[in-house]
Amino acid sequence: MAVSALLVLVLAIPAVATVPTGSTAPTSASQIPNLDAVKAEVIAYYTSGNYEREASSVTRAATAFVDEQLRHHPRKPAVVLDIDDTALSDYGYESSHDFGYDDASYNRDIDAEAFPAIAPTLAFVKHVQREGVAVFFITGRRVPQRAVTIGNLMRVGYPKPAGLYLRPVSDHRHSIIPFKSHARAEIQGLGYTVLLSIGDQWSDLRGGHAERDFKLPNPMYLIP
Ligand SMILES: [Mg+2]
Repeated sequence: MAVSALLVLVLAIPAVATVPTGSTAPTSASQIPNLDAVKAEVIAYYTSGNYEREASSVTRAATAFVDEQLRHHPRKPAVVLDIDDTALSDYGYESSHDFGYDDASYNRDIDAEAFPAIAPTLAFVKHVQREGVAVFFITGRRVPQRAVTIGNLMRVGYPKPAGLYLRPVSDHRHSIIPFKSHARAEIQGLGYTVLLSIGDQWSDLRGGHAERDFKLPNPMYLIP
């Protein structure tokens, strides 16, 4: 989750340019899932273990893809991962803030290196690194948060990455796609073959510069 990204509550009106208007707006409240009921569903999805099961199915497929690609001896193989709700879980933050968000409390948790690992992603990263694959992170967290971000990743068991790309403080573009796709292009420019990209948002993945994309589940918010 980006530090200053406009985060969107589950089925709340997005604070981005996707507010339904005219003919796309609901004409009756009966067409809109009840927000409290949706929050209860999200909690059940995570606390039941179903989130981790679904995430595991994604990382198993990603692992198989990397293993298969390595048989072709790609030049300087690399994988790219998002951080929040990809490598580290924001569920604890989200659920303790009633699935809301504010910069101040979120940045305090980033500074406290408070986010736990997502176990299937951690297993994936350890596996591919053992196989000689370079691991890069590209995150919407901001450049000044580099040290605490590395600290959090390593404190929960991630190995030191080959590289970490953080969003510049000056980047206020509506979408994070240009920043993330440009960072992947930079990694390719270093001579790496970016075998795959993993993220919990479609905006983590769009814009090319990876052989394959793997989307983790996230029913909590949207980042454009
Ligand atoms: Mg994310």
